[in-house]
Parts: sequence; structure tokens; C-alpha cells
Amino acid sequence: MLRRVRWSESSLILTLYSLDHGRISVMARGALRPRSPFYGSLELLSMSDITLSRREGREMDTATEASVIRHYESIRTDPLAFAHSCLFVEWLLFSVTGSEPSHPMFHLIGSVLDNFAMGPPFWPVLCSGIEKALRLSGFAMEIDRCVRCGGDPSDSLLWDPAGGGRVCRGCALGSEKEIPAGILVFFRKTRSSPLEEVRKIGLWKGGYRLCFDLLRDFAEIHMDRRMRLRSLSVLEDLEK
Ligand SMILES: [Zn+2]
Repeated sequence: MLRRVRWSESSLILTLYSLDHGRISVMARGALRPRSPFYGSLELLSMSDITLSRREGREMDTATEASVIRHYESIRTDPLAFAHSCLFVEWLLFSVTGSEPSHPMFHLIGSVLDNFAMGPPFWPVLCSGIEKALRLSGFAMEIDRCVRCGGDPSDSLLWDPAGGGRVCRGCALGSEKEIPAGILVFFRKTRSSPLEEVRKIGLWKGGYRLCFDLLRDFAEIHMDRRMRLRSLSVLEDLEK
């Protein structure tokens, strides 16, 4: 459950990432009534088994039954876990727009939330989850070859977000930024390892924030849209 918006006194409009239909919006009539069959089973972030009724000519499907598979209570009761989860979800709402179902994306979302539910550290899971989601959406950063000549960038740490990744010394124009070697190591690890392993990687203070900003720059350029992330300011306040 990526988003829950109150629609009327008792109904909700839900944005879901579903296994079978990808991203969808669903109406849950009467969901807020205490005796509703939905009561307690449509919480934000939870994973539920939801039955839909689809009618010709209707824009939105209607939920008819729901039962919780994973509740993620430990995320909703921990402000830091909750803030990181909301930031991840906000990122998904921005970047996953089509309704093409993707089983890997569904499982990635579940796995990110499973890891948040396990407690800190949250930043490596967040950054790796975002990196993996970008690749599943067809936006992969180039970390092993020069984006201009295709050659080996060897020891160059030059980075060109618009070009899509690393630049070798021979292709440098002087406008590139340098990125810390530790971030490249992290990106390489997140490509090849599950979140359970990536979460063990420690970076220096501020390292993951820098990593997040790199991912955001890259995504905004390649998706050609500015990202407004309200949860990021909430998270910054919590971390002060
Ligand atoms: Zn080059």
C-alpha cells in the first residue's frame, strides 16, 4: 500500500503496487467504518491480499475483500523507520508511473519494507532500494565503463549524471564532479547483492546522504522531472 487518501467520510482511495497489475488506484468503500470488513487491513505500507471488482466503463477498481499478509507494525511505530519507508514510497510514486506489472518490482518493495521492519540501519537499505528500483525501471547508472568512450575509466572518479555515470580521464571536459570511491563500491555491491547484505555496508557520516543526492540528480535528469520529496524534510528534522 503506497498511498491512502480519504475520499469521503468512510471511503478511501488507495494507491497500490500489486503483483498482478502493477501500480493501480483502488476505491475501498466504507473502509473507515468500524464494522467494515476492511477495518485494520488497509494500513499504509502493509502488504495485503485484495480482491477487486472491475467494471466496464468505471475508471477505478473497487476493493471487495482484503486480508493482511504483512502488517509492518514495527515500521509504523518507529518514526525513523516510518520516515525512511515514506521516502522510499514517495520515490516510487514519482518514478513508477505505468501500470505494467513487474514481479521483481513487487518483491523489491516487499524486501525493502522487510528490511526497514528489522530496524536500523535504514540509509543503506533506502539507497540500495532506490538504486535497484531505478534499474528495474530501465535507468541504470554506468559504473564500470566511461559513458563517453566506453573504455575502462580505471582510477577516474569523475561523474557525469547527465551522461549516466563515470567518465575516464581522457574524456574529461573539466565540468565533471568527482565522486568518492566508497560510493562506487556501494553501487557495485547493491547491483550484485540482496538488501540483507547491502545493509551491512557502512559509509562515513553523510556518505549515504551524498549517495541519495547522486541517485536523485541522476533520476531527475533521466526522467526529466523535478522530484518533490516531502518525506525528506521530515526525515531531516528527525535526524537533527
Ligand atoms: Zn572515456
